[in-house]
Amino acid sequence: MDFADLLRPTLHYGMHFLVPGLFAWIFYRDSWKKAWLILLATMLVDLDHLLATPLFDPNRCSIGFHPLHSEIAIGLYVVLLFFRPTRLIAIGLLWHMVTDYQDCLWLK
Ligand SMILES: [Zn+2]
Repeated sequence: MDFADLLRPTLHYGMHFLVPGLFAWIFYRDSWKKAWLILLATMLVDLDHLLATPLFDPNRCSIGFHPLHSEIAIGLYVVLLFFRPTRLIAIGLLWHMVTDYQDCLWLK
């Protein structure tokens, strides 16, 4: 196991869990815990992995593979960004896509 083997999952899960917490604390200071929970709830987008075989493959790029990680879905998340009630959810979903995508870059 080399440094990259350790760095990749650390970066991945840090971006999935800790960065949203930091974002919530900076931009939603008054209700950062609730904002963080909403951001973490957007991880449910990974339920589309249930449709894939195998369920989890560390060497598969999620972006463009799973239905909720498709270009069309990502386009929809961008649209959700423009409406105040769905903005935080859209931020969480788009951040999730960025996080998954940086993982794809490691595969190349
Ligand atoms: Zn994902």
